[in-house]
Amino acid sequence: MPMLTCTQTRSLIPTRIMPKVWAEPETGSRWCDCGKHCQLTKPVVREFARDLYGLHLPERIAHEDVILICMNVWHYARICPFFTMSVADAAVYVNGSIEDDYPVNVALAIVKAFSNKWNGCPVENCRGDWTADNITNGDTADSEGR
Ligand SMILES: [Zn+2]
Ligand SMILES: [Zn+2]
Repeated sequence: MPMLTCTQTRSLIPTRIMPKVWAEPETGSRWCDCGKHCQLTKPVVREFARDLYGLHLPERIAHEDVILICMNVWHYARICPFFTMSVADAAVYVNGSIEDDYPVNVALAIVKAFSNKWNGCPVENCRGDWTADNITNGDTADSEGR
């Protein structure tokens, strides 16, 4: 009987949490340093996604591309496993699991959930070994290779 309850609860997680991330406070570093305390709203995240795809977003956004959109938001050219692990945590938080790809609204919410909490890498002087190129070539831990 407890197992049944557990399964039911898990299936409810995505629909419950996903819309909430847009209203949750940004508790980490500031994603924008222009000094105006810009909010990372859904239209803003969508603009960052357009940097990757152009005007028309695909119906589903790959997990690797979610990482690239996060890099765009934070203006990072290089990242480390701590960054990709934090994106993975955000995916679990929003979607309940890490998948190969997500519907656009879920993908944008993952970028938001990540950015709400991202506070930089805790490793001192971490430079990051990964660039956009070797992420999409399948160096992330959960990648199946594209
Ligand atoms: Zn700003
Ligand atoms: Zn690092």
